[in-house]
Formats: sequence, C-alpha cells, structure tokens
Amino acid sequence: MYIVTAEEMYDMDHGAMNKVGMDGKLLMENAGRAIAAVIKERVGKTARIRILAGGGNNGGDGFVIGRTLINDGYDTKVVQVVPDEKITGDALYHKQLFVRCGGEVPVMSSADEVGLTVRGADTVVDAIAGIGLKGRLREPLASIVAAVNKEASYVISVDIPSGLPANEGIDDFYAIRANETVFTGFPKQSVFLEHTAPYYGEWQVVSFGLPSVLTANGAKRQMWTEEEFKKSMPERSRYSHKGSHGKGLAIGGSLEMPGSIAMTVSAALRTGAGLVTAATAKSAIPVVASQCMEATYLVLEETDGFISSDQPISFADYDAVVMGMGMGRHHAAQHLIRNALESAACPLIVDADGLYHLKALPALLKKRTAPVVVTPHPGEMAMLLDISVPELLQKPFACAKMFAEEYGVYVVLKGPFTIITSPHGQQTVTQTGNKGLAKGGSGDVLSGVILAMMMQEQSIMEALSNASFVHGQAADMLVANTHSVYDLMASDLLYGIPKVFRTCMK
Ligand code: ADP
Ligand code: ADP
Ligand code: MG
Repeated sequence: MYIVTAEEMYDMDHGAMNKVGMDGKLLMENAGRAIAAVIKERVGKTARIRILAGGGNNGGDGFVIGRTLINDGYDTKVVQVVPDEKITGDALYHKQLFVRCGGEVPVMSSADEVGLTVRGADTVVDAIAGIGLKGRLREPLASIVAAVNKEASYVISVDIPSGLPANEGIDDFYAIRANETVFTGFPKQSVFLEHTAPYYGEWQVVSFGLPSVLTANGAKRQMWTEEEFKKSMPERSRYSHKGSHGKGLAIGGSLEMPGSIAMTVSAALRTGAGLVTAATAKSAIPVVASQCMEATYLVLEETDGFISSDQPISFADYDAVVMGMGMGRHHAAQHLIRNALESAACPLIVDADGLYHLKALPALLKKRTAPVVVTPHPGEMAMLLDISVPELLQKPFACAKMFAEEYGVYVVLKGPFTIITSPHGQQTVTQTGNKGLAKGGSGDVLSGVILAMMMQEQSIMEALSNASFVHGQAADMLVANTHSVYDLMASDLLYGIPKVFRTCMK
C-alpha cells in the first residue's frame, strides 16, 4: 500500500485521465460510491446523515455520496457550505445529477446554521475540503469547521479531514477532528505524523478505480503490514544448520547497563539468528550470561564499567554487527565504532550511544561502502541532524531521507510510526506497536530483531521493515492478550516475538 503526498495523488489522478482516458466524473462517481458503501456498513437506515459539501473535488464526492445514500433509502441531506460559484467542473456535474434525482441543496455560509444542522445529525460526512487546500482554511469555512468540531457527534471525513494538510512540514492549520477517515486511493502522508494523525481518527482506504499500471512504478513510500511481512519472510530449509541463519555480533552493554545488550542478544536469537556473540565490558558479562545462555561472549576492556577497548575486533567472523546499546560515551568506545566502519565488510547497525560516537565520524561514514543502518529515536535523529525534535517531527520523512541520502545509509527512524529509509530514498512505514513500548529497553530489543533479520535471505529494506513490524506486532499481541500498556516491559517482547511468528508464519 503506497503512501502519497497531495502532488503524487494529483499526478496519478491526471495519469488516469490523460494517459488512460478515464473521465474525472467517472473517478468521482467511483470514489463517492465506495465511500457511501463504507458509510452504509456503519449506520442503520434510520440514522440521520448530513453531508457537508465544499467546492472542489471533495465537495463533488459529497454529492455522489448523497445521491447514492438517498437512492438506497437512507435519511440523508447534503448541505453546501460554499457559494454556488465555487461548485465547478466535475463537482458541478454531480451536483446537477443530485438535484435532478430530487435532492435539495440548501446553501449555508454561517457557522451557526451549520452547527444547528450537525447537532441534529447522527453522522456528519465531511466533504468540505480535500487535498487541494492551499494554506490555512479561510473564513467562513474555518468557523464552520469549528462548529462541526463542537457540535457533531460522529464525523466521517472524505479522503482527509477538511483543513488538514496532506503533506508533512505544515503546522499552521485548523481542521476537522474526524472519528473516521476514508481515504480514496491511498493513505496521505500526514496520517503518519504525530501532530496530524489524531485528526484522522480510524482510517481505511477505498479504491476508486485508479489503474494499477499508474501506481506500479515510482512509488517512493509504502506501508509495511502483515501482508508484506508474510510475503517477504524466507522459508527455512529442512537441511539448514546454525551457520545458515547467520552469525551475529552485538557490541554494547556496561556494568551500569547490562540489560540492554542482554535484550539485544536474546531478541536476535528469538528472531532466528543462528549464532550470536555479545561483546561487552568484562564486568557486565556475568549479568548478561545469566540472562542469555545461548550466546557466546567476547570480553572487552573497560574503564569504570564501560567499554574502553580499542583492540580491533575480527569482524570477518560475522554476518552482521549491531553496536551501541548501553555502550556509554566513553571516548575509547569511539575507536570501536571507527574500527567497525573501516573494517567490517558485513552490514553494520548502529544504535543508541553508538549514534553519538558515529556523529563524530562523518567522513568515515560517507566513505564506507558496506551497508550501515542507523536506528535513532526522534531525539537521536535530531541530534544527528543538528535540529530540534519539534523540527524533526514536522517532517520526519524528509529528514530521514536527507540523512540517508547524504551519508548513504539506511535509517530506521523509530516512533509510533517507524519510518525506514534506504540510501536511495525509498521509504516504508510500519504502524505496529503501542504506547506500552514507551519504556527503556524497547529499542534494545528492536536492535536485536534487526540484527537477526539482516542475516536472513531478504533485501535490507525487507529485513528492516520486517524487524520493525515484528517488534511492534509482538507488543500489540501481548497487549491484546496477556498484558496492558502499563505493565508491558521490554523483556516481555521476547515472549511476544514467538506469538508473531506462530500466527504470521507457517
Ligand atoms: P481539488 O478540487 O483541488 O481536488 P479540494 O476538494 O480540496 O481539492 O478543493 C479545494 C477547494 O478548496 C477549492 O474550491 C479551493 O478554492 C478551496 N480552497 C483552497 N484553499 C482554501 C483555503 N485555505 N480556505 C478555504 N478554501 C480553500
Ligand atoms: P531504548 O533506547 O530505551 O531501548 P528507544 O527509544 O531507542 O528505546 O526505542 C523505543 C522503541 O519503542 C522504538 O522501536 C519505538 O518505535 C517504540 N515506541 C516507543 N514509543 C512508542 C509508542 N508510543 N507507540 C509505538 N511504538 C513506540
Ligand atoms: Mg534506544
């Protein structure tokens, strides 16, 4: 499932019309009917449905929805919230059909009138403004939207809540707060941003008949769900042995943070790594080993309980390396990162304190040719880019892409929605996971899942997307069955991962 910006959506619309020759009126009919079908699933025939239609295509969809619902015997009225001259083109055609089918179109331009109308409705359909909106909603629409937010008991938005920007990077808006949004064609980018996602409510996507030839290539962003996970996970051979599933190295941990590396290592083994070695500070080893009997160990020199070794590690023995979790910021640890960047020919995953060290080595990072994956949370991503967290959260897609392209690395930008970016700017988004993960250690588990996935037979983008999916899904399955978002602990994820594999894989 692709994720689109407003411009990309318009490109596809235009392609359908200009290249394929589909009539815009037909696309509007398809969209309206598909949304009407969703509404019919939600409401009974006695429910009072009130549709608010604006100018533009969004309003046009509203007239199709109105005609369809009235035809099917639903108590439906369409209210036009813009003057007649704003209804043009395909929207005007559908307004005229609506009227010729016996529909009435009262025009309301005051917030009071609209407020009164929606107060008496069971379901309000918001078809006021779509992705064509430029800037902040102007009056009187802004006040009308405020009245809807205040008075409506249940709002379903057509394609996007009116007033909301479809793209990232815009924080000046005033918008409908929908209970539900029905996307036509594809989800819009802003449904994956923390500050705009809540406006959408629950969402789903309906098809309006865009030919798949227009969408098959050129997709820059896509959602990664159970479907993609199932499709891309390799089957295991009857004749496989531990060497077939990768030998991974995890570097990190300290006397003060032994749990971090223990969770990384255990998570990697739970996710199917053949062999995992933990390289950690000498004094942390007994703690880590007591938690993880299957791992082997590499003893590193320490200062005050933190890794301080600058001894080169023989990376040639490993298929993938993850480093940084609980490593601390001791200067000597930077040597290890430097050493890994220079001499590990296998993929290198850098997390947590490792990112802090990495920031000091931009030239080495650029020079490296073997794959590097960075797994920052928003604070770490902002640190890497020298921007503030609010700036990052305004446009996480663009920021991650900028870093990935500049340094030629894969970026796993973690959060309620995790955005995964390739060095060529290809992006996937996972939306598994829940607020139970907002606890120290969740990211350390993800690092281990990534380490294991990177050693299975799949592309790096598949491996990273699958890792993020599994990690979040493990949390979701635990919270659905045995845990709550309060009590979930990072180490519980080690018991959630098997649930994901059991339900999603043969
Ligand atoms: P389109 O028709 O371009 O696909 P919409 O359904 O979103 O997209 O329609 C955009 C409509 O909203 C146009 O009629 C336009 O005049 C109007 N519009 C655009 N920006 C604003 C704004 N900031 N405030 C109020 N109306 C706007
Ligand atoms: P730590 O370093 O303490 O282990 P990180 O901040 O590095 O934790 O990683 C936290 C992990 O938990 C990430 O994978 C992130 O996506 C996930 N996470 C945190 N908060 C949420 C949330 N509210 N919803 C979904 N996932 C979350
Ligand atoms: Mg972390």
